[in-house]
Amino acid sequence: MTTDRWHADVIRRIKALATSTSASAVVGQATGHDMWGLRCGSQDAARRVLITGGVHGDEPAGVEAVLQFLEHSVADYVRHFHFVVIPCVNPSGYEANTRENGSGQDINRSMSNNGVIESMSLRQVIADQPFDLFFDLHEDYEATGFYMYEAERERRLLGEQIVDAVRQIGSIDSDDNTDPGLDMPVSEGLFEINPAWRTSGWSVYAYFESATHGVLTETPSTAWPLQTRVDAHLLALRLVLDHYTGTRTVPLT
Ligand SMILES: [Zn+2]
Repeated sequence: MTTDRWHADVIRRIKALATSTSASAVVGQATGHDMWGLRCGSQDAARRVLITGGVHGDEPAGVEAVLQFLEHSVADYVRHFHFVVIPCVNPSGYEANTRENGSGQDINRSMSNNGVIESMSLRQVIADQPFDLFFDLHEDYEATGFYMYEAERERRLLGEQIVDAVRQIGSIDSDDNTDPGLDMPVSEGLFEINPAWRTSGWSVYAYFESATHGVLTETPSTAWPLQTRVDAHLLALRLVLDHYTGTRTVPLT
C-alpha cells in the first residue's frame, strides 16, 4: 500500500522550525534517505529530552504529533529543556506505509543489529549523551484505544495520571496481551518497559542506555481519526513535560 505521505514534507516542516535558538540538521542516515532532526531549547537547561516518532512507517500519528508539538507547543518549554527531536526515524517506511524500513527490517527489533542503518544512526544519536527524558511515539493497528509504556529509575511512574487524562480524548485499550510474556501491566493502559526488549526495541534500548525516564505512547491507528490520535500523543507528552516544569499547561480531568 502506498500513501501520499512524503518525507520531503516532513523535512520542509522541520526546516521551517529553525530559528536563532533551534537548529535543524541531518542527524543520521536512513534507508534511501537522510534522517532529520531538530535541536532546540536552552543548552544550559536543567533537563535534556529526546523525542522520536515514526520508528514504524505505518504509524503516522507519531510523526504528525512530533511535528505539531514543535510547531505549536515547544515554545512553552524551551526555557526548561534542551530538546533533541527526530520526527521521522523511518522515512522509507513512512512513504510506503510499512512497519519496516525499505529493506524490510523492523528498526524496533534491531538495536543490536549492525545491518540496520536507522538503528545505527539512533545509537549514534544517544552515544555518550545522557537524557533525562526519552519519549517515543507509536501506533497499534489492532488497538481499540490508547495505551503506553513507561520506566523511571526510581519507579516514579506518571502513567496512571496520563492514561486518566487521555480518557478525555478517547477510550483506553485494556488488552494486556499484545506481547504475551513480555508486557508487564501496571494498571489499565499502562505497562512497564521490559528489560527483555533491551537489545531489540529502540525505546527500551534508549531508556536503559541513556535516559532516566522513558515513555512510549501508542494510539489506535485504525480505530481513531488521525488528529484524535495526534491529540492523545500531544496530551501525554505535555503532561510529562509539565510534571518536570511544575507548570500545568494542559488541564487534567
Ligand atoms: Zn510502533
